[in-house]
Amino acid sequence: MNLGDKRNMFEKLGISGEIYDYCEEIWNSLSPRWEQIDALSEFNQLKVIEAMQKNQVSEACLLGTTGYGYNDLGRDTLEKVYADIFHTEDALVRPQITCGTHALALALMSNLRPGDELLSPVGKPYDTLEEVIGIRPSKGSLKEYGINYSQVDLLPDGSFDYDKIKAAVNERTRMVTIQRSKGYQTRPTLSVKRIGELIAFIKEIKPDAICMVDNCYGEFTENLEPGDVGADLVVGSLIKNPGGGLAPIGGYLAGRKDCIENAAYRLTSPGLGKEVGASLSALPAFYQGLFLAPSVTANALKAAIFAANLYESLGFSVVPDGRESRHDIIQAVTFGNPEGVIAFCQGIQQASAVDGHVTPEPWDMPGYDSPVIMASGAFVSGSSIELSADGPIKPPFTVYFQGGLTWQHGKFGIMKSLQKLVEKGMILKDFDKRNL
Ligand SMILES: *Cc1c(COP(=O)(O)O)cnc(C)c1O
Repeated sequence: MNLGDKRNMFEKLGISGEIYDYCEEIWNSLSPRWEQIDALSEFNQLKVIEAMQKNQVSEACLLGTTGYGYNDLGRDTLEKVYADIFHTEDALVRPQITCGTHALALALMSNLRPGDELLSPVGKPYDTLEEVIGIRPSKGSLKEYGINYSQVDLLPDGSFDYDKIKAAVNERTRMVTIQRSKGYQTRPTLSVKRIGELIAFIKEIKPDAICMVDNCYGEFTENLEPGDVGADLVVGSLIKNPGGGLAPIGGYLAGRKDCIENAAYRLTSPGLGKEVGASLSALPAFYQGLFLAPSVTANALKAAIFAANLYESLGFSVVPDGRESRHDIIQAVTFGNPEGVIAFCQGIQQASAVDGHVTPEPWDMPGYDSPVIMASGAFVSGSSIELSADGPIKPPFTVYFQGGLTWQHGKFGIMKSLQKLVEKGMILKDFDKRNL
């Protein structure tokens, strides 16, 4: 293929020649990073295949059940596969778990009892958990059930405040929640290694504390998972990384047998637990999505690294920066004003294969305390392992970009976001390389 053909194709899709050239130069400069990521996805691909083979995934596992779902071979086998990948004793992987928030709420509500205390030693948890915990009053929150919450913030440099954590752990501390990803914050994402150090510290003070990791967006971004470093529960959403873009719904919990048992009794009913819960027709997508997840996550990582380097080169503050190691697929870019966040999201939307013709606007989403704009033209509604971006319309006006089932799509999305910012006059740069 003539490389000019590619440039023309981008022009046809609304990317100016100057922006294309600028982006290509940045993309090509990153090839050593692409090699590292390919090696990571190869490792994780083999990890998934190994778990599937060990548990003898068979054609019969793809069939699914209806009604009560007794003896659902595919469901039970998939849960063993998840437990092996996350190196935990057991797992609960169900289409009846509606999203990541539900999976986390399930883990908390099933393992905490009235009078217990939940500790977050890594600062404020993800926005939607504020209502689960009762930080913001909500019907059915942990607080309504007499479960207390305490929090220790990270130090300004992002490190753990070990003195305060030690002081916060008390005889009532039953669970500790550790969020791997930054969520809607600009703090660094925690590596699995750092999570392991924190868990070891907590277990030394209180060996029976249940350490739960909110693993949303972190799966397959490293060769270790939190289960490898002592987490008692690892929780996430199937419409993020581990669903590989194919799972149409679902969440997972992987962890200690007793913790998973509590969760299963809460999800279905005391006495029923894991034995019921028909998988309906979800299993082929769950299995195939998991099979693709290491590769899809790697593509999303490439898009995030490209975004970091591109926007950093244009003078914006980005977290993580262009060179840092990655522990989740999220890229934060701070624009400092609402218009930048909106233009970025609209550019991402325009790159979507589905709903590429619609214009996203900020709205008051349930679970969030300020208007949020979301760009998501996804095959699975709201899926954020697919190309997507969102940002709360509040200072410091940061947009969070994630996903891209293929790196080609992620790269195109980022190029579109830049094109939009330039068209809106928000980036006053001459894209002639010689002038940068
Ligand atoms: C996405 C996310 C959640 C919530 O998941 P939903 O599927 O949106 O309910 C929780 N924690 C973190 C860190 C997340 O990224």
